[in-house]
Amino acid sequence: MFNFSYQNATRIVFGKDQISELAHLVPKDKKVLLIYGGGSIKRNGVYQQVVNALAGVSFVEFAGVEPNPAFETLMRATTLVKEQGIEYILAVGGGSVIDGAKFVAAAAVFNGDPWDILAKGAKVTTAVPLGCVLTLPATGSESNGNSVVTRYETQQKLAFSSELVFPQFAILDPTVTYSLPPKQVANGVVDAFVHVMEQYLTYPVNAPVQDRFAEGLLQTLIEEGPKALAEPENYDVRANVMWAATMALNGLIGQGVPQDWATHMIGHEITALYGLDHAQTLAIVLPALMQQQRATKGAKLLQYGQRVWQLQHQDQERLIDEAISHTRQFFERMGVPTRLADYGIKADAVDKLVDKLVQHKMLKLGEHRDITPEVSRSILQRAV
Ligand code: NAP
Ligand code: FE
Repeated sequence: MFNFSYQNATRIVFGKDQISELAHLVPKDKKVLLIYGGGSIKRNGVYQQVVNALAGVSFVEFAGVEPNPAFETLMRATTLVKEQGIEYILAVGGGSVIDGAKFVAAAAVFNGDPWDILAKGAKVTTAVPLGCVLTLPATGSESNGNSVVTRYETQQKLAFSSELVFPQFAILDPTVTYSLPPKQVANGVVDAFVHVMEQYLTYPVNAPVQDRFAEGLLQTLIEEGPKALAEPENYDVRANVMWAATMALNGLIGQGVPQDWATHMIGHEITALYGLDHAQTLAIVLPALMQQQRATKGAKLLQYGQRVWQLQHQDQERLIDEAISHTRQFFERMGVPTRLADYGIKADAVDKLVDKLVQHKMLKLGEHRDITPEVSRSILQRAV
């Protein structure tokens, strides 16, 4: 196991009717920005619960953070934070709203052009404090320091990361996920699954604690994901999916182990160029990447096949083939197609996507830094 230093600063407040806890979690003496998305929270009653809990707090609203949040939109929110002297941000929504709130929190007090935080990796040295109410289990954004923002005019989807934008608290009420459209439920399960895989399917470093946490999360998502589609108002199913998605990317399972993230980096380019949902891009890239990297990932692929899918062949190559096809079938069973062609994207996309990877300096991806643009090209060709 590698050395590590780990802290997760986010308080998780989990369970039914817990949005009322905002009354104790949001500071009463600060001017607050309530930031949310396209209005799902108004239709499912979450907005009203939030407003009730904020009685006595002075707040202004910013609505309209879109899925794959736009830099342009977030800069308008940043201007509002500055003009109104906002001292605390409350994000209510899915990963897009929470990621967007993190960028606003950093941008509003950034000394310079906030675009540099994303494009040049400029260091975030201060940020407006934030908390969140999660409405879509998927990204883990509710208890990590990551944020992904898209600049549509230049077709760039870029990430930044900072300890300073960890939400101080995250309220996770599984009942608020009942109103999710099936597509978003499926996307969330696939995203969480791939987050685990990015930190697990690398090479062994004698870290059985992390391995078994990861395998437990994968098996939970495999078992509970289809149930969340079939029984949308089953509280325990929703609760376990929600907690699994948070655990998948709150840092815990990634400590002391190698990490891959090539699936995400290649996937971001597909979203930026063709507008696919984040999880759809992951479902396309991961099975192809597993095939392409089956030699360097061989030991973990065998372990994954044996422990997660309970495969027992003597023939190792056959076991790996089946582990990959089970993964693909799981995504398909969740209703997320796994090939570019399923989304009407043709083979000529491969060159365009590789050009974008080069432009964004994604030249050495993966746990061995061996996924060069040429390897990404093969992965994408396998994904056509
Ligand atoms: P999302 O983009 O936040 O939300 C997708 C859709 O779901 C929106 O239209 C939203 O509607 C709707 N929605 C959310 N909660 C709902 C509910 N309870 N009921 C009904 N509809 C609801 O989805 P996401 O998958 O959570 O976030 C995706 C983004 O996160 C991508 O940009 C991705 O790159 C990023 N990401 C971040 C991390 C990280 O670590 N920070 C990791 C992976 C991915 P409204 O807008 O109307 O609310
Ligand atoms: Fe993701």
